[in-house]
Amino acid sequence: MTAERNDGTGRIQMTGVGIPSVSQTELSKDEVNRYRRHLVLPDVGREGQRRLKNAKVLLIGAGGLGSPLGLYLAAAGVGRVGIVEFDVVDETNLQRQILYGTADVGRSKLDAARNRLTNLNPHVQIDTHEVRLCKDNTLEIFEQYDVIVDGTDNFPTRYLVNDACVLLGKPNVYGSIFRFEGQASVFWAEQGPCYRCLYQQPPPPGLVPSCAEGGVLGVLPGVIGAIQAIETVKLILGRGDSLVGRLLTFDALRMRFREFKLRKDPDCPVCGTEPTIHELPDYDMVCGILPVEDPHRPIEEISARDLWKRMQETNTPVLLDVREPNELWEELGYIEDAYLIPIRSLPERLDELEVYRDREIVVICASGWRSEVAARYLAERGFARPINLAGGMVDWDEEGLPFVRAAEGTFSALLQRRKL
Ligand SMILES: [Zn+2]
Repeated sequence: MTAERNDGTGRIQMTGVGIPSVSQTELSKDEVNRYRRHLVLPDVGREGQRRLKNAKVLLIGAGGLGSPLGLYLAAAGVGRVGIVEFDVVDETNLQRQILYGTADVGRSKLDAARNRLTNLNPHVQIDTHEVRLCKDNTLEIFEQYDVIVDGTDNFPTRYLVNDACVLLGKPNVYGSIFRFEGQASVFWAEQGPCYRCLYQQPPPPGLVPSCAEGGVLGVLPGVIGAIQAIETVKLILGRGDSLVGRLLTFDALRMRFREFKLRKDPDCPVCGTEPTIHELPDYDMVCGILPVEDPHRPIEEISARDLWKRMQETNTPVLLDVREPNELWEELGYIEDAYLIPIRSLPERLDELEVYRDREIVVICASGWRSEVAARYLAERGFARPINLAGGMVDWDEEGLPFVRAAEGTFSALLQRRKL
């Protein structure tokens, strides 16, 4: 994390991305008027507003997260906003993608976004990149910007964005949403962990449901996108306490935020001490092929409380935790007798579960949706009774039920563990 210091006024100062506060073009009279509520803020002021004007921010995707991001960053006076997008506006987008209106259906998202944002703030330059990001075009586009904001909804792009940011030393303001839950962080390898420190490899496609399959509450991206916009502005201003090294999760149904400490993984393949990724890999290859055939297949569920009761009985179910080993951080550990097989390794380690084919297998993850997909995967491969732990370890913890905290440095040993 960047060095924090108190400037004597009680405000926390932080080193940001180093945007110069001097501008070739001073704020115009119009701009001074427009940004009046910023100019009177002690932590923004004229200097901060000039930093915003000099800043170049790239949005990956102009969808659910990209909509509030684009609107707030343009309104705040970020001088240059780039958008990567190649989609057209679809009627099903309008439930959450507030950049667009009914008249935009069928139009290019980039055209509609540029119109809307230029109308909102003509002092902002909107760059449009009508491409699908791949290993051959990403670095060239990212190089032009100070901060990269990830609003994508698919894993290959998320890893591509992460790796490109690490290689270029740029901060990656991350957000993701699913159903009623969202999360946000700032991954910045120079200051803290990156996305791969948390999840080393992308899961195979099909193992993780997309928003199209799983659904998403339309208001949710407004909350997460606004958090990303705030983090972006703070990085530009060099003010406040950023989300570097922290994962913020939001549960809209419970209306609850939680925060998890993230550690830099010394074995991280891209930002660790001996990185193995020195250039962008081929992300389609990394992802492999393993689709879940029926993403809507119903799966039996059990609550944390009921599982705990079952564990006190004689015929206890088998527990299978499908999180990454470095997710078993101190705040949210694992259940003592659980098998640990990360979802990405499930296909090649399926034979280890063969002996349990006819037994109840309760699948566990942090929030209950990866485990649901893993349970479905098992069901499709003929396992008799895969059951999903609804609400995952977060619910388990909320119920005050016991779990083991993994000590740092024991993560890979945990993976070798057998309960047989
Ligand atoms: Zn890393």
